[in-house]
Amino acid sequence: MTRYFRIEYEGRPRHVVAHDQGWRLLEGDLFGEHEAGDAIPSTGHRLLAPVIPSKIVAVGLNYKDHAAEQNKPLPAEPMIFIKPSTAVVGPDDPIVLPAGVGRVDHEAEAGVVIGAVASRVPEDEAHRYIFGITCVNDVTARELQKKDVQYTRAKGFDSFAPVGPCVAAGLEYDARAGLTVEGWVNGVRRQSSSTRELIFSIHRLVAFISSVMTLLPGDIISTGTPAGIGPLAAGDSVTIVVEGVGELTNPVAMRA
Ligand code: ZN
Repeated sequence: MTRYFRIEYEGRPRHVVAHDQGWRLLEGDLFGEHEAGDAIPSTGHRLLAPVIPSKIVAVGLNYKDHAAEQNKPLPAEPMIFIKPSTAVVGPDDPIVLPAGVGRVDHEAEAGVVIGAVASRVPEDEAHRYIFGITCVNDVTARELQKKDVQYTRAKGFDSFAPVGPCVAAGLEYDARAGLTVEGWVNGVRRQSSSTRELIFSIHRLVAFISSVMTLLPGDIISTGTPAGIGPLAAGDSVTIVVEGVGELTNPVAMRA
């Protein structure tokens, strides 16, 4: 398993490859030709969002327990929506609460990072298009989601898509045990499930979404959130944990 981070290094963003032996600067294109270059210390760097997606395609109601807590029936096919790339922030960047929008919730999700141009991909070939897994917090203005019916405003504010801390390649995300997905607020675990509980599997999602739109390298499929969503307040610290990826922590602040 290999983890790829993106850091600020000598004033500009760089990808690094993290192995047991430490960090190496990545030379070349993360999704194309690349090799591990110079070794650098693995501490003291500002972490950035590990990829810059052209879009995040998120999936609604993909865990039975979350559908139940929202009093919604299970969907017959994946219910997808877009989070804009401008909503992406990295580890430790603040989630900024806009004034006057009411309740804003955390949603802990496993994110699938696409590694190659994917169009009309059959389910049994989907694994070839998956680069790795990351953590996503699908931050949601819950009252606007209900009021607007469609999700663009509720899910699209700047800072409403924390991603990170890395992309983990080579995880057995499709194994029977799945990967645990957790959401923590101020040190208390609020959400806990596993990707094995997904209604629509990761490979099914790649096939379904790529039958609608072309997925580009770096795009993220956010696979849905389990039960236990809840409101965030200024001063909170929220952490998303996906097994094998690590912890994505962000403070919460009011918009100035
Ligand atoms: Zn979500």
